[in-house]
Formats: sequence, structure tokens, C-alpha cells
Amino acid sequence: MNSFDTHEVANQPPPFEDVDLYACDAPLREGVAREGGAWAEARLHAFGARVGSAEVMELGREANRHAPELRSHDRYGHRIDEVRFHPAWHAVMALAMEHEVHNLPWREPRPGAHVARSSLHSLLSQVESGSCCPLTMTFACRPALAHAPEVAAAWEPKLLGTEYDPRLAPLADKRSVLVGMAMTEKQGGSDVRANTTRAVPLEGTAGEGGEYELVGHKWFCSAPMSDAFLTLAQTGRGLSCFLVPRVLPDGTRNPFRIQRLKDKLGNRSNASSEIEYAGTRGVRVGDEGRGVRTILEMVHHTRLDCVSGSTGLMRQALAQALHHARHREAFGKRLADQALMRAVLADLALEVEAATALMLRLARAFDESPRDEGARAFGRIATAVGKYWVCKRAPAMIYEAMECLGGAGYVEESILPRLYREAPVNAIWEGSGNVMCLDVLRAMVREPDAVPAFLAELEAARGDARLDAATAELKRELARPEDAERRARTLVERMALALQASLLVRYAPEPVSDAFLAARLERPALTFGALPAGLELEPILARALPA
Ligand SMILES: Cc1cc2nc3c(=O)[nH]c(=O)nc-3n(C[C@H](O)[C@H](O)[C@H](O)COP(=O)(O)OP(=O)(O)OC[C@H]3O[C@@H](n4cnc5c(N)ncnc54)[C@H](O)[C@@H]3O)c2cc1C
Repeated sequence: MNSFDTHEVANQPPPFEDVDLYACDAPLREGVAREGGAWAEARLHAFGARVGSAEVMELGREANRHAPELRSHDRYGHRIDEVRFHPAWHAVMALAMEHEVHNLPWREPRPGAHVARSSLHSLLSQVESGSCCPLTMTFACRPALAHAPEVAAAWEPKLLGTEYDPRLAPLADKRSVLVGMAMTEKQGGSDVRANTTRAVPLEGTAGEGGEYELVGHKWFCSAPMSDAFLTLAQTGRGLSCFLVPRVLPDGTRNPFRIQRLKDKLGNRSNASSEIEYAGTRGVRVGDEGRGVRTILEMVHHTRLDCVSGSTGLMRQALAQALHHARHREAFGKRLADQALMRAVLADLALEVEAATALMLRLARAFDESPRDEGARAFGRIATAVGKYWVCKRAPAMIYEAMECLGGAGYVEESILPRLYREAPVNAIWEGSGNVMCLDVLRAMVREPDAVPAFLAELEAARGDARLDAATAELKRELARPEDAERRARTLVERMALALQASLLVRYAPEPVSDAFLAARLERPALTFGALPAGLELEPILARALPA
């Protein structure tokens, strides 16, 4: 200490960085192997180490500190409708695309590809979530584009690109492309049938992939610097789906007026805009009047990413909380050794382990769906259940993790405020909570195989009285059609908890499944850390993060 120092800095943890975020996550690693992604181990380690490096964590901070800016016009007054990003944003996007976060299952369609990609996506969410938005939408557009084979054939090679190319340029000149989604209008987001944007076919181009001119607006359009957008507009036959490129094949800009950028709670690195179509060219994707059905293929895939995104946010919050508690003392003892703190941390770890198991199980259903009708039916309903539940749990869980760091957790330099601000968006977009619950009811009615496939998954874990009782109760609830809409949240919550419990009973170490059954099915409490007595916490904590 020199003579001007007033004190020594003590009792502060080292930064949690330069860690392989995959290697330190046993539930994730075990789940990846179990659900068919073992072949991707090396790349998951490579990506986990990259995103966990001090360098990439700093990129995440910078990309969020310097929000994107709209440049509506150039200096000479020409309308350009561009968004300018900080270099950190571009660096994160390039890293993610190099690692195929936006397209791995399409480049390598093999069993476990969705499991591997969901894991990559979840790892990225831990350090920079905004970039996940364009990456997710680009990943998810492909199943919708399949409704227009000619359009898909033209865009596919560039969708499979892995070299980030942020230029606004014609498709032919691009090394890779990003595709966004523009559905929501001022008068209706969940109820897209209220869309008023109109599409009129251009003379002589009425067939599949025919060209239309669009006039109208979209109230939310994220990642407006993407190369094209799947969008909805009304034709004479009803709501239809279109692909709208930002640049036309001859190099001219398609009219795409960015009115302003949203000033958002979180997700600040990512630009979300309000746009207008003013004689904007689009090609039809799928049949006229079937636009909702077409774009729902995309939405089904983005919902999987809402689960992996929220799981990633929670995982990073948990790792930060555990790391802090192991390095910080209060009242003469490490926080991690204090009985009450151990209960809080263990409860948070249970939440993340259950979310991780569910995310990977859903991803396997996506892997199996093309060849297995049962997997498709299970994925249809379980994705909606998982999207509702995991996204709903994230804000409360992350807040509690933040509190584990005390005042430091509330300060921007820790990543917790950013994780916390980010958390609600996964619940709000791509089907807000109520809409997801109604979607579960819809799946029950429209997909006769969905409930049997869901229950078969629970039956596979039979044997523990607590889970068996929850399954029996759920069956009784499912058999009661009356008043279903009003009861939907209760029903979906029970479905989610039973499914998570069944996965942990089958695959997690006994102290984890035992504690989950006790704390979520048998004696649920309203705050994290209010665990029933007599649980074995040490194995849960040790497993959550290596010391
Ligand atoms: C950061 C951000 C980025 C976004 N990016 C995009 C984008 O790129 N493209 C895009 O198209 N959209 C985007 N959205 C919009 C988002 O998808 C919508 O906000 C969402 O779908 C909800 O629509 P809404 O805002 O019109 O709310 P509303 O539809 O008005 O819903 C309001 C509330 O009512 C509930 N509700 C609706 N119907 C029912 C019902 N029948 N019963 C009970 N409750 C009901 C909903 O669950 C919700 O809680 C973005 C939103 C955000 C916040």
C-alpha cells in the first residue's frame, strides 16, 4: 500500500470470465449427450470458451451500452432507412454466424442438430441476447419458406452462409443473409387477423412466388437491417404471407421506411423498429389466404428459441450468483456456506436444471419431428407449454440471483441488470403468456395425438408417488373441458412442472429430482429459497458450477 491508498480492496470476487461456459454446465453437457448431440461436443466447448472469454463478454457489454441509431436520410437528404450499430454488435454477429447459431440443423441435418443448435443459442444468450433475435428469425424462416419452393431455392444458399455480411445489397451479391419477421401492427399483435396492410398482385406474376406490391405499416419489426422479412398482408383472399427483400435484384432499395426505433426496456443492442410499406415489393410464400398458417411454421421454431434464450439468461444469472457467493464472506463465513443462502442458490439451480432438461428435450422433438409423428405431436404441445413456463420463470429467477450479489448485482458493471431487463421479452414476443396458454388449448383440440404424446412422456417416468399423483391430477384436469380458457394458466403450469419433474426423475441425480419434486410439486412456495426441510443440497450446488 502506498501512502495515498486509504484501504485495501478485500472480500470481492474475481470476475467470472475466461470460463468455458459449456464445460462448467454439467446439466447442459449431460443433456446434450442424452438427447443426441454428443457429436457436437467439440464445437460446443469451442463456442462455450469463446463466449465465456473476457473479450466476448466485453463485446456484449459494449453492444448494449452503445445502442443502435437510426439514420433515416443521408447527409444530402436522400432517404436511406439504415441503422448504424456499434462494432461490438457486428463482432458478436460474426462470431455467432461463424458458429452456425442461425443455421446448424439446416447445414447439417442429422439427429441431434437441433439439440446442438439450441445449446449454442443458449450459450450466446448468456453474454449477448440482442443478437439472438436476428439469428433466431433467420434460423426459423426456413420452414415457412419451404411453402414456396422457388423462393426457398433462391434464398437457401445464402441462408446457409456462415460469413456475416451486414451490407444492404442484392441477394446475388451477398455472402449470407438475415431474415426478419414483420407481423405485428398497431391495432393488433396477438390477433394478426386484424392486420390492415394490403398486397396487390403485379400484372402477370400471379403464380407461386408471384410478385405483389404492399402498402401499410408494422408496429414492431426487429432487426430492420436484415435482408428480407416474412410479413403478413391482406389480399382479396385474406391474410397472406410474403417475403419482402430490402434490396431488389437490380440493386435499388425496396421502399422500407423505418419510422423510428423503439426505446426498449432491454434487448438494447438489437434494433426494433416501426416501419411502413409504401409500394413495397414482396413475393408470396404459401397460398393466398393461408398466411397465418404459413408463418406459424416460423413461429413454432422461434418459440423453441424463447425457451433456450431464457434458459441461457437464467444459467448466466445462476453462475454469477454461485461464483459470487463462493468468494464473498459475511458475518465471518462465506455466503455459499450460510444455510439460508445455500437454500436460495440450490432452489435457483433446480430451476435452471429443469429449464435445461426441458429445452434439450424439446430440441430433440424438433430433430425427430420430420420422421416421427409422435415426436411432432409432442413437440407441438410441449413447445407451447415450455415457452410459457420457462419464459415466465426467468424474470423472477434472475431477480433472485441478482439479490445474491447484494448491491453489486444492481450495478450495471455486473451483468445482472442486463439479464434482468432482457428476461421479460421472451415471454412477451412470439406469443405472450395468455396467448401461449390458449395455444396449448388449441393444440389439444386440433391435434388429437398431442395430449397422448405428452402424457406418454410423463408415464415414462412413473414410479415416484409425488410425480404419479401430479400426473393423475393433470389427467383429471385435462379431461374437464368446461371453463378451459379461464383455467388455462393453471393447467399449463401443471403440465410444465410435471414434464420438468418427469425429465429430472429420469435423468438427473437423485438429490436434484428429489428436491424438485418436493419444492415444485409437493410443497411449492412463493419465493425462491423457501425449500422444504430435509433436502440434500450439496450435490445440487456442486453440480451447478464446479468450485
Ligand atoms: C422487443 C420487441 C420486439 C418485437 N419484435 C417483433 C418483430 O420483429 N416482428 C413482429 O411481428 N412483432 C414483434 N414484436 C411484437 C410482439 O410479437 C407483440 O408485441 C406480441 O405479439 C403481442 O402483441 P401486442 O403487442 O399487439 O399485444 P396484444 O395482442 O394487444 O396483447 C396484449 C395482452 O393481451 C393478451 N391477450 C391477447 N389475446 C388474448 C386473449 N384472447 N385472451 C386473453 N389474453 C389475451 C396477451 O397475452 C397480452 O398479454 C416485438 C415486441 C417486442 C417487445
